[in-house]
Amino acid sequence: MLLAMARHTGPRMVQCYLCRHRFEVGGRAQSTSCPGCNKPVIVGDLILKGSTLKGPKKEERTCGKIVVGKKARLMAEFVEAHGGIECEGTIEARHVLTSRLVLGAKAVYKGDLQAQTVEMKPGAKVKPSQFAVPEDPIGLADLPQSGSG
Ligand SMILES: [Zn+2]
Repeated sequence: MLLAMARHTGPRMVQCYLCRHRFEVGGRAQSTSCPGCNKPVIVGDLILKGSTLKGPKKEERTCGKIVVGKKARLMAEFVEAHGGIECEGTIEARHVLTSRLVLGAKAVYKGDLQAQTVEMKPGAKVKPSQFAVPEDPIGLADLPQSGSG
């Protein structure tokens, strides 16, 4: 008999970043194809550790969250993360759309921002960027919170 190693995580609701269609995915799904537009979408978290450099690329989008570690660097023209962005390292972008941006004490951030909430630790550096903090740009708040089990 094998014991199940993986922690059970139930399905969660995501919103397609291409067509804004909402659908359910398995708790541990990393990518899937959207039933609304039939295009592949990334629903997992993007975690950059160590001295990882991601990009430069045109876009980096996920329905999950993006975590940029202390020495890591994310470079993309357009960054979208529905689950929020936690940055201890460097983000260089032209435009960022997320639900919640958290910048750590060593974080360096550049790019126009659209987020519901922004948290900055003392020491975080923000290069001249335009911040827009609208109430809820694409209705992310309606999505049920994940991780309650
Ligand atoms: Zn879609």
